[in-house]
This record gives sequence, C-alpha cells and structure tokens, in this order.
Amino acid sequence: MIPVRGYEGAKLAILGLGRSGLSAARALRAGGVEPVCWDDNPEARGRAEAEGFACADLSRPGAFEGLAALIVSPGIPHLYPRPNPVVHAALQAGVPVDNDIGLFFRSLATPAWHRYDSPPRVVAVTGSNGKSTTSALIHHILTEAGRPSQLAGNIGRGVLDLDPPGEGGVVVLELSSYQTDLARALTPDVAVFTNLSPDHLDRHAGLGGYFAAKRRLFAEGGPDRAVIGVDEDEGLFLAGQLAEGPADDRVIRVSVAQKLTGPGWQVFARKGYLSEYRKGRQVGSIDLRAVKGLPGAHNHQNACAAYAVARSLGLAPRVIEEALHSYPGLPHRSQVIAEAGGVTYVNDSKATNVDSAAKALGAFARIRWICGGLEKEGGLAPLLPATGSVAKAYVIGREAANFAMQLNVEAEICTTMARAVERAMAEAEAGDTVLLAPAAASFDQYDSFERRGEDFVAEVTARLAG
Ligand code: ADP
Repeated sequence: MIPVRGYEGAKLAILGLGRSGLSAARALRAGGVEPVCWDDNPEARGRAEAEGFACADLSRPGAFEGLAALIVSPGIPHLYPRPNPVVHAALQAGVPVDNDIGLFFRSLATPAWHRYDSPPRVVAVTGSNGKSTTSALIHHILTEAGRPSQLAGNIGRGVLDLDPPGEGGVVVLELSSYQTDLARALTPDVAVFTNLSPDHLDRHAGLGGYFAAKRRLFAEGGPDRAVIGVDEDEGLFLAGQLAEGPADDRVIRVSVAQKLTGPGWQVFARKGYLSEYRKGRQVGSIDLRAVKGLPGAHNHQNACAAYAVARSLGLAPRVIEEALHSYPGLPHRSQVIAEAGGVTYVNDSKATNVDSAAKALGAFARIRWICGGLEKEGGLAPLLPATGSVAKAYVIGREAANFAMQLNVEAEICTTMARAVERAMAEAEAGDTVLLAPAAASFDQYDSFERRGEDFVAEVTARLAG
C-alpha cells in the first residue's frame, strides 16, 4: 500500500466506496487520517463499516466544515452531465475535490528515494482504445527484461494498493479520462496517448471536453517523455504543443498510418514492420507479423507505443522484440483461445463499440464473425466499410434480427452464443478465423463483457473437446 502523505491529522471525506474508494480509505488511514466515508448504496457502506471506517451522509448540512478534501470515485459525475450533489456542495464550500490518482502522485516519492541510484519511474497510459493492452504490454516487457514493474489504475488494481516501488522500480498506470480529469496531481515520468475516438461524451460534454480531460496528463506535471499516437488530429496537435521543435526528442511520435520522417524520435508500423527512427536514422526494426499475441494494425499501434516507452526507459530493441513474442495477451482483447483444424478462435468480447470491432475485423483474413448485443448510440453504419474480410456473420443478442438487418454481409440470426458458436464452427474452413467481436454492449444477455467472452470460450472449448 502507498500511505497517503501530506494530510496527517486532517479531515478528509470519501464519496463512493467501490474498489478505489475503499483503497483510498485504507491508504489515508495508513497516512494518519481517519476519513469520513459515504456511498448511496448501503451494501457498499457496510463493507467500509466492516473495516471500521465511519460513514456519514455527506449531503447533511455542515458536512464540509473543516474538510481538507473530498475524494471522489471515477464512476461519480463531477461535472457533466451534471455534478453529483455532494461534489457540487463541496465545490460551493470551497473544498478541493480530488481522487485516488491525485493522492497517489502526491504520496509516491519518499525521502528514501534520495539514496537510490535509480529512483522509481511512473508510466501513465491514456487514450480511447488500447489503454489496457498497451499498459499490460509495457508491464510485460519490463518484467521480461528483469525490471521490477507493477501495473495498476483502470486495469484491476487500485493505485494506492501498489507496493512502494524500490530501486529502479517502474509503476505502469492505465488512466481513464474520468481519472485524469479530476486528479489534482498528475506527474508521470512518461505519459502515453494511444489514440482518440468519441466515447463517454456525456461525462465530458462532447469530444472537446473528452480530449481536454486526457490532455491533462501531459499539461499538469510535464512528463520527461511523451509517447503520442499522431494518427488523429488531436494527437498530432498534442505532439506539436509539447515539442519545442521537430527535433525535440522529449516527444516520441507513433503512427500506424504513415511513415514518420523528420529529425525527432519516432516509432511507426507499416505493412507489419515496426521501425524506430531517431535523428533521421533508423535504429530499430521488428517484424510484428510474427508476433502472435498482437494481431492487426490496432495492436501494432499498441506495440509501437509500448516499444517507445521501453526504449525511453533504456531497454534495447532486441530485448523488447523477444518480450513481444512472449506477450500472452489480455483476456477478451484479440485473444487467441484455440486453434484446431486450421481454424483460429479469437475472443474480442471487449469490442463493445463500433470502432474497436472494426479494428478487430481488420486484423484477420477470412472471418466467421460472431456479433450483436445491446446496440450503442450511433448505429452500425461506421462498421460497414470494415466487413470486407467477413465470410459470414452469426448474430447474437435479444435484438439479433434487427442487428442482422443492418449488416452488409450474409448474416444468420443465432440469438444465443451456443447456437452462434455451433453454426460458425460447422461452416468454418481451414484458414478461417472464428471471431467474437460484438460491436455492442453485453447487458441484454450478460452481466459484463467478461461473462460474454467466458461463455464464448466455454462453448468453443466444450465443442472442440467433444
Ligand atoms: P481500453 O483499455 O482503452 O478499453 P483495450 O486494450 O482493453 O483498451 O482494448 C479495447 C478494445 O479496443 C478491444 O476490442 C481491442 O481489440 C480494441 N483495441 C485495442 N487496441 C486498440 C487500438 N490501438 N485502437 C483501436 N482499437 C483498439
């Protein structure tokens, strides 16, 4: 755990008692602060009370008297579509609003760091898609190279639950736009921006607000190194804004759409080959087509970003290449789950929106595509140009017929995962990929995209075994 520093003896309150709220409560206690906790859900309050934390309704009059800060969970709106009433009251009372990420950055460094030859470094990754994959890949590369690395943030472990890093340690954080928008301290040593496409627009009042939230990661502390995907105008703009000139190598530009030239530092992938150029000279190259765990141009973007981070931390290209080959992939993201009779089975249940599903469809040659579920706003039209390699779609979900009607490929209405897997397997030929990339949320049939992916894996595994 990272004990929170700088608030000894002060009064703080925590709103939202999920994973990050509870971990903030523990870290505050370890730092000499007894927080006042609140969550509208009595079950969540029960969990905090079971650990001995005091709960009190923060909407009661006078709740903010003498408070040094209010710590808010990422799921609670702090500004748009409208601030949560407790957040609003805190702001009116002039109480600073922060989150666990802000507490983490202000608490991480300790006096012991002065004795280290190589003090710990923090790498923070943000962007619309590929955050988890890029963060997990950076962590994997560092671990394979023998560097002590820990992974946290939006990816499963609360940031304040990390062990204090020691000599040469690296902390890799995946940060969402909600987290970067609110944190009062954001001082990573290396910051990564993968890409930008519209998402969570209600929480940021549109694309501009969403970009501004992500941009704080680069503007607040000024990282030593910024790794930036420049295939959208926003990334290009950000890279331009951070660099003093074209040769400034504090910015590493990343692309999977073009060869990058110029006197600066750049990493790009073209036709499956990663290239690193510095000061106009090629200094590294990797054949990504041979890297099984990272199929498709979108994953090559993640590979380029992770490569750039590892290079900026001093790793050699060959060490990184070897680690890319042993990357096992994350569950539910372009995850190869089986190969049998020349057919590859891929679980991309995390492709919950049209953009990520389109990227998954671009990664394989002949696809038996399992798709459908709870459709997101905006319809399926942006997906249609990406279906060129689909041999046939097998549509699941309660509204399967309606979903199938909007597709421009042959589509069979299967409704259930069991039926879709059965039909796709029966029709698949050697060389085909059976791909779950729903382009929809899972909530019409499952609790989460994870359950949906697990169902797919179970169906495939059972049928292959039988
Ligand atoms: P995030 O953590 O940003 O949601 P993930 O790594 O979990 O990103 O991937 C989410 C979805 O987006 C998956 O379906 C994945 O295949 C797809 N994806 C991964 N990387 C990229 C990328 N660089 N660009 C676009 N889509 C991506």
